[in-house]
Formats: sequence, C-alpha cells, structure tokens
Amino acid sequence: MPRIIVVGAGLAGLASALALRRSGHQVQIFEASQLLFEHTEGPVVQIGPKVNDILKKWEFDAEVARGVLIEEVSEYDLGGLPRKSEGSQPPGWMYFQRSRLHKALMDAAKAPSGAGQPVEIFLNTRVISAQGDTGVVVVEDGRSFTGDLVIGADGLHSTTRKAFPNDIISAGPTKLTVHFRVATAKLEDNAVIKRFQIQPQKYEKWVGDNVELKVFSVDSEHIIFDTTLPILSEAGLSPTFLKKQISDAFVSADSQIRELLDAVNPEDIQFWSYNSMPHVERWTSKRLVLIGDAAHPFLPYELPGTSQSITGAEALDEVFTTSFGVEEIQARLQAWEIVRKERVEFIQGLERKAWPSN
Ligand SMILES: Cc1cc2nc3c(=O)[nH]c(=O)nc-3n(C[C@H](O)[C@H](O)[C@H](O)COP(=O)(O)OP(=O)(O)OC[C@H]3O[C@@H](n4cnc5c(N)ncnc54)[C@H](O)[C@@H]3O)c2cc1C
Repeated sequence: MPRIIVVGAGLAGLASALALRRSGHQVQIFEASQLLFEHTEGPVVQIGPKVNDILKKWEFDAEVARGVLIEEVSEYDLGGLPRKSEGSQPPGWMYFQRSRLHKALMDAAKAPSGAGQPVEIFLNTRVISAQGDTGVVVVEDGRSFTGDLVIGADGLHSTTRKAFPNDIISAGPTKLTVHFRVATAKLEDNAVIKRFQIQPQKYEKWVGDNVELKVFSVDSEHIIFDTTLPILSEAGLSPTFLKKQISDAFVSADSQIRELLDAVNPEDIQFWSYNSMPHVERWTSKRLVLIGDAAHPFLPYELPGTSQSITGAEALDEVFTTSFGVEEIQARLQAWEIVRKERVEFIQGLERKAWPSN
C-alpha cells in the first residue's frame, strides 16, 4: 500500500489526508503545532455548493462543525441603507467558523469509523526538510521518514516549498484580519441582532469607503464580526488599540452597528496579519506536491482559500484514487498541477484586481 506523508495539519493537509485515506492509502501527518483548539473561535470561512458536495462525498458531517447554510445575504451602506440584496442563495452555500471546520476535519481524518484506515497525526513534529526526489522528510529531532508521495500542506511560510529550485518567494505587504464577537444577551433590542434572531441563515455586509464589516451568527448567543484593517505590522498591537481602530473605521456607521461595536470586549478581539505573495512557480517535483496556502495563498478578500484547499485535495485524490507505483507519481502530479494551476491563477488574478492596494 503506498505510504503518503502530509506536512501540516491545516485545512489543506487534513482535507487531503481525509480524501486519500478514503481511497485506501496509508496516510501520516506531521504537524508542527499542538493543535489545541482551546476555543472554537476564529474568522468565518465560506464554501460554495460544489465544495459542500465534496464534503458530503467524504461523509463529512457539516452539522458537527456547526456549519450555517446561507439562505440570504444583505448588504448595507454604513448609514444602514440597503445597498443590494443578493436575495435567495444557491442551495449548499455555507459558512463555518474556521477553527470549527478545522477541528471537525481533523476528527473525521483520524476517526476509527469511515472508509479506509484512520490517518495518523503526529503533533509537535516540525518538518525541517522534504525532498522531492526521494520522498524523505526530516523532522526537527533528526528522525527521517520516507513517503511514496509527500504533500506539502504547511501554509504560507512553507518549509516544503524550499525543496523547489526557485523558492525566492517572500511575503508582500500585509493587512490585518480582525475577528470579534458580541453576546446577544447584552443587546436584545438591537435591530441587527433581532434580524439574525428572525433569520439566522444569512449574513450581512456593511460596506463603506475601503471598509467592510461582515456580520454572521453561528449560534444564538453571539453575533460575530470579521473585518480587515489597513494595519501593516502586528508590532505593538493590542486588543484595546484595535477596538479603537475598529471604532474609528466605522465612525460613520449606523447607530445599531455602532452600538454593537461599542459593546465588544477587547479580550474578544482576535487578529492575524495576512500577507500577499507572488505566484509560486512550481507546485510539484517528482514525489512532492504543494497544496493549499503553501502553493497559493489568497488575499483576505472574499477569501477562496478554504474552498481551493478542499477542491485541490479532492483533485489530488482523483489522480491517486487507484493504487499507484512510485514511477507513476510524477506524471499523475503533473496532470493535477496543470488543471489546478489554471483554476487557481484565474481566481488569484480576479482577487488581486479587486484588492485595492495590490
Ligand atoms: C486569519 C485567517 C483568516 C482566514 N479567513 C479565511 C476566510 O474567511 N475564508 C477562506 O476561505 N479562507 C480564509 N483563510 C485562509 C484559509 O484558512 C486557508 O487558505 C486555508 O486554511 C488553507 O490553509 P493551509 O492548510 O494550506 O495552511 P494553514 O492553515 O496555514 O495550515 C498549515 C499547517 O501547517 C503547519 N506547519 C507549518 N510549517 C510546518 C512544518 N515545517 N512542519 C509541520 N507542520 C507545519 C502549521 O502549524 C499549520 O497547522 C484565512 C486564514 C487566516 C490565517
């Protein structure tokens, strides 16, 4: 049975592992962090109907991850006037809190039940090098492992990408993705909260000049918000400072939104910087393939990162559905790369045009 090593247990690594396990392969993941999931917070990610179909094919239970099927999207200007209603949405479009989806994918990959053998996940095991020619992966404590196929799913600052000759990629200017929430019990008369109580399967966008606030609800106890701020460095940032930045960015917003923003506890604000990167030239080298953000990080603008990680994993599984010999791997990976690059670079082109500072 071919042995597959995945470097990184993010969404791309776990999706790949789950798919390939179901096709009968032996899969091991080496993950640098502890993946504690102490809290199931984090920004919201959306998936479209096609990605939802892939998750269903993998018998992934979206309810476990508390996915919300979107029935409606409403867009307002900051004054509270409806800009446009995108009306009823195609069935199957969903959102999740990213870390809930992440944890549920991990649980599905290593579950004793389900098709194939459970994926073995080694936490706290940082990979320091991977070789495309031999499939040898070396971890921090000096041990080495050999995979017939090695999947580099180690994200934006990928180590596996260093195995490629032209790895001169450096991250470009960054913006800050900010996520926060408000307890609904605090403000039961707020009009936004009331709308979510009547229609929870929706989300709202509040759009001003160069600012956008996305409002979601994954449970009745909280309203959650995601936005992006033009802050170039994380140095010296604190939640209290960010609360002020959010307040300033939405100073002209409708009183109902401002009431919610004023009610945010600074300790409920999370933030991440998100870099832009040039295209990564090559994604495959003999036995090694890059997937997810290691190959194609997206900007935080209507992010397709989650969807493209899952569709990339499904496509990879398509080319390895049947058992394979080591001598066939390169050709199968090249077939995957041609189709995937065309699709992803098309989407990257669209988002880079739409992203104001790029
Ligand atoms: C703050 C934030 C907000 C986002 N919001 C959205 C959104 O709204 N919509 C959307 O579609 N996408 C969003 N994304 C992007 C989306 O989550 C990613 O595109 C997607 O998760 C794919 O990630 P990945 O698995 O390739 O990489 P990652 O999620 O970065 O996972 C990489 C994994 O590899 C591990 N790792 C790294 N180096 C090593 C090593 N040397 N050895 C072993 N393990 C290693 C890391 O610990 C990590 O677990 C967001 C991302 C971030 C960070």
